[in-house]
Parts: sequence; structure tokens; C-alpha cells
Amino acid sequence: MSVLVTGGAGYIGSHMVLALVEAGESVVVVDNLSTGFSTSLPDGVPLFIGDAGDENLVEGVIAAQDVKSIIHFAGSVVVPDSIRDPLAYYRNNTMTTRSLLKAAVKSGVNQFIFSSTAAVYGNPDKVPVPEEAPTRPLSPYGSSKLMAEIMLHDVAAAHGMKYVVLRYFNVAGADPQARIGLATVGATHLLKIAVEAAVGPRAKVDVFGTDYPTPDGSCIRDFIHVSDLAQAHRAALAYLRGGGASVTLNCGYGRGYSVLETIEAVRRISGRNFAVQHGPRRPGDIMAMIADTSRLRTALDWTPQYQELETIVAHALAWEQKLVRERQSELQHATSA
Ligand code: UDP
Repeated sequence: MSVLVTGGAGYIGSHMVLALVEAGESVVVVDNLSTGFSTSLPDGVPLFIGDAGDENLVEGVIAAQDVKSIIHFAGSVVVPDSIRDPLAYYRNNTMTTRSLLKAAVKSGVNQFIFSSTAAVYGNPDKVPVPEEAPTRPLSPYGSSKLMAEIMLHDVAAAHGMKYVVLRYFNVAGADPQARIGLATVGATHLLKIAVEAAVGPRAKVDVFGTDYPTPDGSCIRDFIHVSDLAQAHRAALAYLRGGGASVTLNCGYGRGYSVLETIEAVRRISGRNFAVQHGPRRPGDIMAMIADTSRLRTALDWTPQYQELETIVAHALAWEQKLVRERQSELQHATSA
């Protein structure tokens, strides 16, 4: 009996695979390696290189590996890219989920965990945001995920499937042992940018807006450690295996840090006083995003371990330092060869 993880070679997916393997689960990965790395997978985990929306591939994998549940991460996640190229997002997020669901229904897989996002809420009327808040996405990214959520809901009702939709807030940090982390080149996420400025070649961090009506004028986010998020998925799997009803859950800690506080934490913990430049607002940014986590904490048996911002930053820094060391040694090999 296996768990299929789509996008298992990516940032969050690879932490999921590690958590499952460490829990003694049998795991199989489908990933097209468009942004992921096969080296992020633990030894012995079967990787099928291809699209999660390739029905033939997925049906073959389900049959060959005795897949009983699917955790679906594969997709595209960069909000500005989705505004530039919406059709790519409707293909990679919405259509891929449709094909994957079709393969799941045809193969009788009836436990499905879906990676969704706080972007489905758009600008919330109030924070913390509960799951029943109106969904008014501001980007094709958010819309593409919301459409997939709706499809999953309908398919589950028609075909006896049970699902957990997890709406992620700001995922950050890295494996506490620095075995894996966010390796994508050109990542746009705040914490990644700040740790790159602290240990890598990045010259400065731009702050997108300091004139918001928040205590320090910058936006506020609810950062969740990627390893805690992976454990929330394990808890969701246990919930479905125990016969739990389909449910949608916010994934955050229920507290917010401002952009300036986050950057300051990276400066303090790294001991590097990198340049920070205050600039104009970034179009489409939401002022404050904090999860109401009551439903998550009630529904799932989940105890987060890495809630402190200091811990998230320390793990992100350790991973970034490792990446820099690896790149330096690759460069040395290339020049001495
Ligand atoms: N941000 C920033 N500088 C950067 C990257 C991000 O000031 O170089 C801000 C961004 O405007 C937002 C917050 O950090 O207010 C989180 O942005 P991110 O892209 O990490 O995630 P989002 O919340 O947009 O999904």
C-alpha cells in the first residue's frame, strides 16, 4: 500500500516525502522536474518523471505501486507569473488536477489531499481568516487553485472520495537537519530573498511598501515551517484513514510577523547587516494574512514543533549556507576540470 505524492521533488513535496519515509510509509513520486530536483528525494523512493496530469502514467503508477491515497502538490505557484500567463496556471493547476482526479476515480483511489492556498481568499475582510470567509482570489494563481478545490468537492460527492484541502499561508524554512530546502533559483519569497542577502550573493532586500496601515507600515504574514506543514499532511492522511469526512483547513500558526520584523530577524540571527531598501507597494499584495487555525487544530492530531520565527529563520539560513557551499564546490570542480 503506497501514498502517491505528486510534485514530490519540489520544495514542500520533498519535505512531505521525507516525513512519510521517516514514518515508515511506502511512497511513490510523480514529478516532471520542471522546478523540482530528483536529488531532493531520499534513496529508494520510486520517481516517475512525468506530469501529474498524464492519466496513463498515473493509472499505471497507481496499479503498479498499490496506491491508496494521493497527496497532490504538483503545480505552479508564482503569483506574478500567473498574471502574465493565466492559461499556464489553469493548465498546470486546474486541468492537471482534473486529469489526476479522473485517474484516481477510475483506479478507485478515494483518499485525496490537495495543496491549496490562502490566495483563494483574496483581500480578507478580517484577520485571522476562517475557512468560511468569502473566496475572492485576486490572481489567476488563486483562481486556478479555487477551481481545483471546487472540482475536488464535486468529484468527491459523486464518487465516494474523501478529501482534505489544506490552504497554506506563507510556507518557509527548511528541514531542521538541512537535508533539503528551497532550492529553486530565482525564488521570490520574502524569507528566501532575505536569507540569500544574508549568506549569498544578493546585494539587498527591497521592502515592497511601508505605508500600509499596520504597526510598522509593512505587510503582515503568517509563516509556517515547511516541516510542520508536512506533518499536518501526515495528520490529514491519518484523519482520512480513520474515516474522517471531507474538510478544508487553513494551515498557518494563527499569528503574524511584519515584513520588516522578518527581515530584522534574518539580520539578527545571521549576524549580517545586509542592505534593506524601502520601496513602493507590490501590486496585488494583501496587507495582512493570518490564518484562523481553530478548525485545523480541532480536526487533526497535529502539534507544531517549529513555530518560533527564530527557528524558521535559523533553518532557512542553515539550508542556504549549505546551498552556497555546494555551489562553491561545484564551481571549484568545474574550474579545476
Ligand atoms: N516582500 C518584500 N520584498 C521581497 C519579497 C516579498 O517586501 O523581496 C513582501 C511582499 O510584498 C509581501 C510579503 O513580503 O508583503 C510576502 O511576500 P511573498 O512573495 O513571500 O509571499 P505572498 O504573501 O505574496 O504569497
